[in-house]
Amino acid sequence: MVITYPRSERAARARSAVDRLASDGIDAVVFGWVDNAGITRVKSVPLARLEHAAEYGVGAVPCFDRSLVDDSFAAAPAGTGPVGDLRLVPDLDRLVPLAAQPGWAWAPADRCAQDGAPHPSCQRGFARRAAEAVERRGFSVKAGIEVEWVVADAAGAPATLGPAYGMTRVVEFSDYLREVLRALTAQGLTVLQLHPEYAAGQFEVSVAAEGPVEAADTAMLVRHTVRAVSTRHGLRVSYAPVFAEGSVGNGSHLHLSLWRGGRNLAHGGPGRHGLHPDAEQFLAGVLAELPALLALGAPGVASYLRLVPSHFAGAYRCWGLENREAALRLITGSAGGANAEFKCFDAAANPYLVVGGVLAAGLAGLDAGLPLPPETPDDPAATGSAERLPASLPEAIAAYEKSALLRQALGGELYEAVLAVRQAEAELFAGYTDADVLEAVRWRY
Ligand code: GLU
Ligand code: MG
Repeated sequence: MVITYPRSERAARARSAVDRLASDGIDAVVFGWVDNAGITRVKSVPLARLEHAAEYGVGAVPCFDRSLVDDSFAAAPAGTGPVGDLRLVPDLDRLVPLAAQPGWAWAPADRCAQDGAPHPSCQRGFARRAAEAVERRGFSVKAGIEVEWVVADAAGAPATLGPAYGMTRVVEFSDYLREVLRALTAQGLTVLQLHPEYAAGQFEVSVAAEGPVEAADTAMLVRHTVRAVSTRHGLRVSYAPVFAEGSVGNGSHLHLSLWRGGRNLAHGGPGRHGLHPDAEQFLAGVLAELPALLALGAPGVASYLRLVPSHFAGAYRCWGLENREAALRLITGSAGGANAEFKCFDAAANPYLVVGGVLAAGLAGLDAGLPLPPETPDDPAATGSAERLPASLPEAIAAYEKSALLRQALGGELYEAVLAVRQAEAELFAGYTDADVLEAVRWRY
């Protein structure tokens, strides 16, 4: 990851990238990061400025630590709003030409102070710190984030009313889906599945597991790519937690497995369904922190229109083998593929905050030797066998405010900025009807 390289090396790496990109016909490079509200914000430079940007970063306003989904801002500490500058430093390890945006390349950015030190509120930096803490404990993590979206026509209506998982949608959208697949593959991603989802106009793509920070980068790249292909087809894309009132939403499920010494700790162990003790404790840690983690992974008022029973959204604080109403669905199978799927997170979430928060909570579970509670083998929506997760943003905020673990892991500055954004969005939409909330956020993420 690039900020770990010294400035001179970043410049040298950029120089060789410029030659390569110029011969690919690239004119401009866009640097992306995701704010606390879940919106991807960017700066872009002409290719000729990439070297300078890699060395010094490009300017970015720190008040975006407190930007909301509607581009307004939560109040900043007295007098700091318009003042100051951060530098967006592109990670050249992830620099890639964008297959569906000819002439453009993309890189995820770290946010740094002007002297090059990491900005304490950089969400990607938080995820990286959490991943490094896992590595220091002798573990590694493989992660993947599913992307679900609704594709709509120019008027904003779902572009296909074909049945859920229906072949109709693949026929109607075969050119489009093929282009999505080709673009993702051309960008170096390994697509595992691409298919119609349940809600009207909804599709899903999943990609191969990788390191946790890389998985968050990839989630950002996949979303931009789907949007770019959609735009070329005259279509609009929504990643809002829910597109239409009452329907199934857009999840952003996090798949995760803990590894040690080349061994997947979700497979072949003495615990339930082959879990190793370390994996049980890690998952217990995440379950214990889940209500507070929702402030990271279900961050908007609209998130709680999705996180409801009987929507396969994982609205219950429990785990179960292949249980799609459990927040934590355990998936067994091959030694390489067994993993835990956190279903309760949605597509409004900043993937770096989700990854960092889940890893921090899992590590705390390991530290405490937390026992994994009994499994929930049935449908809690039908049997009442498990506790509901927070049912509104204010409930998630209340859990987050009590989380010493997340305060410590995020660091005071990032923790407070996230809190300010959540409180401001809860206030922004107080008194809105559900329909008005969806209207306000449908095209924002
Ligand atoms: N779309 C569902 C959600 O809101 C998930 C469906 C599934 O993949 O199980 O998370
Ligand atoms: Mg799905």
